[in-house]
Amino acid sequence: MAHNVTLIRGDGVGPELMEAARRVLEATGVQFNWDVQDAGVDVMEKTGTPLPDAVLDSIRKTHVAYKAPITTPIGTGFRSVNVAIRKEFDQYANVRPAKSYPGVRSKYQNIDLVMLRENTEDLYAGIEFEKGKPETIELIGWIRGKQPKAKIWDDAGISIKPISVTGTKRFAKFGFEYARKWKRKKITAVAKANIMKYTDGLYYEVCREVARGYPEIQYEEMLVDNMCMQLVQKPELYDVLLCPNLYGDILSDLCAGLVGGLGVGPGANIGDNSAMFEAVHGSAPKYKGQNKVNPTALILAGKLMLEYLGEADAAKRLEQAVAAVIAEGKSVTYDMKADRNDPTAVGTSQMADAMIEKLKAKS
Ligand code: NAD
Repeated sequence: MAHNVTLIRGDGVGPELMEAARRVLEATGVQFNWDVQDAGVDVMEKTGTPLPDAVLDSIRKTHVAYKAPITTPIGTGFRSVNVAIRKEFDQYANVRPAKSYPGVRSKYQNIDLVMLRENTEDLYAGIEFEKGKPETIELIGWIRGKQPKAKIWDDAGISIKPISVTGTKRFAKFGFEYARKWKRKKITAVAKANIMKYTDGLYYEVCREVARGYPEIQYEEMLVDNMCMQLVQKPELYDVLLCPNLYGDILSDLCAGLVGGLGVGPGANIGDNSAMFEAVHGSAPKYKGQNKVNPTALILAGKLMLEYLGEADAAKRLEQAVAAVIAEGKSVTYDMKADRNDPTAVGTSQMADAMIEKLKAKS
């Protein structure tokens, strides 16, 4: 049976990465009905919006999107298309595996972490009050009335950090179900509950309660500052990290750095009825049209999509093909070479070709 998937080509280096990734996914033998959609700055020039309704309509039908990076235009009044899609479909869990593949240049080996990040709440909810605005001054007055000891200057801007039982519970359940499904042994919930008792404290409380339903999975809590140090010193001790939105955002870049940088990091955004798969990196506009950047992150996002679609065997073969090309180190892009100007580095489509060859050799 062919899988219906909305394929969003993105902008910047997006279209060339997506073309390479689509070819590699098809080489697994899995059948797809791609519903190709355009979003981003290129389509904005034609239609006036970076996210045409047709894209959302398509995802409403397919429930699965495979998305190349999209630029967030600055100064146009448009918010991020990426965030808009995650919000529209309430994709509340962000999954970012960070795994060492032999051959990737990194000081660390044998890392196999999964960063789970809550996608809808926290300081990322976008509830902000601008310095000097009447509503901000009113809010400051109200806060002073309620908390006379709070130190807050008249010229403060304010961002609100909502963390709820409802939002945390569904996310924590997702995390523990994920750990159970993939036979992960330990979940570390990360927050700063000693300082933010009513938000991060609540987060821990709810995670702890959910953890009780999964006695086979070890559960621990760690303050985010300590987590940073632990990840740099002994990342191999950690398994699944369960993070609220902001800490998850920061720590996932740290984890990407441990295993070779942005070119290899995949991500998935998952809700109850839909999912979107993408690279962690952005649209790298300065490399647009040069057939230069690394397609691995988007291709590994394709591996996560295959797993989501129930194609576990194809996902495994795809990962083996990616790992083999990286381990050989011949057909890899510039960012995987010790010297970034190494003339033997290949382009985006050639690296994809090498993965396709590996897949074909196995079948
Ligand atoms: P970026 O990730 O696009 O690029 C930063 C640098 O990382 C690049 O200049 C390049 O040196 C390197 N890099 C990125 N991807 C690479 C790859 N596949 N192979 C090799 N090197 C790679 O980050 P940025 O420049 O901050 O953002 C550019 C645009 O992308 C912005 O508009 C941003 O909002 C957007 N963005 C989109 C997403 C998404 O689509 N989910 C994610 C992050 C950023």
